Amino acid sequence: MVEVLNLINGQQVSADRWLDLVSPATGEIYGRLPRTPTALPAIMVARDACASWRNTPVRERSRLMHALADAIESDLAAFAEAESIDTGKPVGLARTVDIPRAVANLRWFADSVMEFGSEHYETGSRAVNEVKHLPVGVIGAISPWNLPLYLFTWKIAPALATGNTVVAKPSELAPVTAWKLGQLATEVGFPPGVLNIVHGLGAEIGESIVQDDRVGAVTFTGGTVTGRRIAETAAGQFKKVSLEMGGKNPTIIFKDADLDSAIATAATAAFANQGEICLCGERLLVHQDIHDEVVAGLCARASELVIGDPLEPETQFGALISSDHRDRVESMIQRARDEGGEIVHGGKRPADLPDRCRDGFFLEPTVITGLDMTAITNREEIFGPVVSIMPFANEAEAVEMANDTDYGLSAAIFTEDESRAARVAPAIEAGTVWVNCWLVRDFRVPFGGVKHSGLGREGGDDALRFCTEARTICTATSRTTGDVTKGAVPT
Ligand code: NAD
Repeated sequence: MVEVLNLINGQQVSADRWLDLVSPATGEIYGRLPRTPTALPAIMVARDACASWRNTPVRERSRLMHALADAIESDLAAFAEAESIDTGKPVGLARTVDIPRAVANLRWFADSVMEFGSEHYETGSRAVNEVKHLPVGVIGAISPWNLPLYLFTWKIAPALATGNTVVAKPSELAPVTAWKLGQLATEVGFPPGVLNIVHGLGAEIGESIVQDDRVGAVTFTGGTVTGRRIAETAAGQFKKVSLEMGGKNPTIIFKDADLDSAIATAATAAFANQGEICLCGERLLVHQDIHDEVVAGLCARASELVIGDPLEPETQFGALISSDHRDRVESMIQRARDEGGEIVHGGKRPADLPDRCRDGFFLEPTVITGLDMTAITNREEIFGPVVSIMPFANEAEAVEMANDTDYGLSAAIFTEDESRAARVAPAIEAGTVWVNCWLVRDFRVPFGGVKHSGLGREGGDDALRFCTEARTICTATSRTTGDVTKGAVPT
């Protein structure tokens, strides 16, 4: 049995109360994690560790982060297996995407912080301004279960690199790789109190991080309902928040698209990681003339997916995160039927699973047609392997349908017409729009959502800026009286 512990002040700390760790692939309890009531002890040590960590030379902070990345990389197979067991995702995906990306997150921020210096501005001949980017202090990092280590490191890496101490709370549904990372952080020499990892329920320990006014900023990835609650709590303290939340992303295929490639990518966008990626394309908008061809192509792709034991290397499609989540997705499929939609592929629990996985939380990739934008199916985030296909008549209608949502995280458009791409991409209300591709990510670009999908941007310099406060030091280079009427203060 796996026993996850809290990491506080460099020590593995046990708990009085526990939560079960359940394997999505088998339905079995395979360990436990602390149900910690409050993050207070971790916040206190993180606060105490602030002064020395912020004064640790950036080169040393960067070295430690690379050492942590090295340690994870050299244990990549074990991390990938742990991620697969914890989430039900195919181990091949964890091995090629989740864990390498976690390593890359640590390395990228370890390197980019070296270039993240202060800025200098001369104000005529009167003064020089130095803008320093100083750490916020203690940063709370709250992450979800779908890409556990990937998103956990995406949050802690910029915070640590810029000299903040961290109190991080992984999802209670998938905490194992964060716990393993914490052990390695101690081994490679992170000073006690710099990185604290605490486990438990969002409504308990998560809330205690957000409520504590010693936590200067909270970086959160998760659902929109949770994000709203965090924003409300943080607002009272004028605490910085970065919120990466849900999506209802459109994939748009125009008549002039390279259809084979568009269908293949749309299928990946719908079903990768069992549809449990915030960037998945749950709404597939298709020109009416190619609607039937796309439906057939997507169903063919869905039926080719190898569904099975996530620990088998050939498996492409694993289990959903929990029994509750599968129930929820199934109820949304039933609602699609009730709304008049047709389930043209999937919609059921797969029959043909290995014995070990008989009680796992599997659900077939599912394709729905026949619903328009008034259907709840096309408005609420499902966050599972379900795609709804809708026809459009022309470009204007496609854009209107794409934007007819509370969300605005991402979109993907497929067209061979460059002028169309140049018109449509900026017209879509989303943080990221992909043209003829999906999920191509560059560390340097801002990442985030508009509307109910996000507040703020992460990635690149945006993350480094979020984790720091700008302080301007303006030094006179010629003495003035400070009399504004004499032009002493330039505009
Ligand atoms: P969730 O909101 O239920 O939980 C996310 C994290 O917040 C967990 O660690 C949870 O314990 C914690 N939490 C819950 N309630 C809290 C509270 N009141 N105060 C503080 N913390 C609290 O989300 P989830 O089910 O883990 O993840 C799925 C959601 O995440 C989906 O909506 C998905 O779209 C979204 N997501 C967004 C992105 C993005 O980058 N925009 C990436 C991945 C997932």
